[in-house]
Amino acid sequence: MGDPRGFLNIKRVEAGYRPVEERVNDYREVEIFLSDEERRLQASRCMDCGVPFCHWGCPIGNIMPEWQDLIFKGDWHGAYRILKSTNNFPEFTGRVCPAPCEASCVLSINSEPVTIRQNELSVIEKAFELGYVKPEPPSFRTGKKVAIVGSGPAGLAAADLLNKKGHLVTVFEAADAIGGYLRFGIPDFKLDKKIIDRRLDILKAEGIEFKTSIRVGKDISSNELIKNFDALLLAIGSRVPRDLKINGRELKGVYFAMEYLEQQNRIISGQSISERSLISPMGKRIVVIGGGDTGSDCVGNANRQGAKSITQIEIMPEPPLRRTEDEPWPLWPKLKKTSSSHEEGCERLWNIKTLEFIGEKGILKGIRTIKVKWEKDPSGNMIASDIPGTEEIIPADIVLLSMGFVHPEYDGPVYDFDLSLDNRGNIAIDNNYMTSKKGVFSAGDSVRGASLVVWAIHQGREAALHIDSYLSNGVI
Ligand SMILES: Cc1cc2nc3c(=O)[nH]c(=O)nc-3n(C[C@H](O)[C@H](O)[C@H](O)COP(=O)(O)OP(=O)(O)OC[C@H]3O[C@@H](n4cnc5c(N)ncnc54)[C@H](O)[C@@H]3O)c2cc1C
Ligand code: SF4
Repeated sequence: MGDPRGFLNIKRVEAGYRPVEERVNDYREVEIFLSDEERRLQASRCMDCGVPFCHWGCPIGNIMPEWQDLIFKGDWHGAYRILKSTNNFPEFTGRVCPAPCEASCVLSINSEPVTIRQNELSVIEKAFELGYVKPEPPSFRTGKKVAIVGSGPAGLAAADLLNKKGHLVTVFEAADAIGGYLRFGIPDFKLDKKIIDRRLDILKAEGIEFKTSIRVGKDISSNELIKNFDALLLAIGSRVPRDLKINGRELKGVYFAMEYLEQQNRIISGQSISERSLISPMGKRIVVIGGGDTGSDCVGNANRQGAKSITQIEIMPEPPLRRTEDEPWPLWPKLKKTSSSHEEGCERLWNIKTLEFIGEKGILKGIRTIKVKWEKDPSGNMIASDIPGTEEIIPADIVLLSMGFVHPEYDGPVYDFDLSLDNRGNIAIDNNYMTSKKGVFSAGDSVRGASLVVWAIHQGREAALHIDSYLSNGVI
């Protein structure tokens, strides 16, 4: 423990964001970095608790008290070595993780938690800067071959670990670039795509083979993969968006959030989109339906593209600003989040149900909404009921449906292998991450449902260990 009184003397300082008026004019990352000295002081706030609840809060079990101590001592190499033992891609989590670890930091009981996420980011960025992050190809090859379907964080984490174990890994990706939602969902102002490319260069130099623009089940048959590889990991994500099948859904101007976000990510990477399919918020009234992170990313993009107005509506009630008794420490509380994109400008409304999309001559003009109230039914479930007389028309030229994802796509390996599904429609796995088809494993959002990068990394790592054991001993 660096400074035993650090938590008493030093206040939490967040690095913060670039000024709004500057950042809305570009797509560069909005978050800034503290100086090394300021970071050292932030790391000194860690109390090195006897029972570090932050480990428990972090899905990948990062060992943060140890690296906080080394940050404080200026030993970036030591901090990096510990961090990489639990996290394949701290440069991703350090940028986009909502940091459940901080909600369970003991300091947060009556004070402000340690800036764990930002400290993590500093360690990995310093490690890149100082040349510690280098390709480390395995010293031997087992001769076993693993195919990974899907190159999001789950597939990449599994590929990294299995390659390090000496197996020959090939990643098949349907899109024309690697990264899953890291690449085509999360905007550059949260995660610059150069950060993904920098890691990919290392993974390639370590011997992982990447094949893009290959949809398994279409461009290559699922059975061919089974024949040519010793094990298969499906890391295909949860990519079927939740729809809102109400009157007017067919109107021009109603899109899924991912249609818009993927386009934006492509444009920022230098690709051009045809005039006909371009979704352009410039000078338009935008309504985002869905109050979560994907919706907030739509807000950030639309602000950068000169939208006339942006309204984000949510059917659920406005979350509290502080923990309630139902979600005591060290649990992850569902609090109202004001993202950097919200700060840039947007009206946010809660308890709003959309009844109908309204249009003229096939073109969207607005949405008809009603306010709802939430009450517990006799069995304790929250039920929404319409409040009479609260109907309203919100004018809109573009509506972005951002209500989450329901399950993985079924065409392809899920159908080809006739895989069992769980009761939410995700791929069912046993305790060893194996699906109902022998030798076929699954991890990430395809198993857990739409979740977080850090959970995808965790599941990719776990699946890799089980696949390794299956390949090494023929048993799991
Ligand atoms: C807009 C948006 C913003 C988000 N922001 C955050 C955030 O700030 N923080 C956070 O922690 N999480 C965030 N998430 C969630 C996070 O990105 C996902 O939980 C995570 O990417 C899931 O990883 P995955 O590897 O399971 O799947 P994905 O990232 O979805 O990757 C699956 C990959 O499989 C490929 N694939 C599917 N089927 C096939 C096939 N048959 N053949 C070949 N390839 C196939 C897909 O093309 C895709 O590339 C966000 C998600 C979205 C959509
Ligand atoms: S990965 Fe997320 S939960 Fe884990 S230490 Fe980093 S910020 Fe915290």
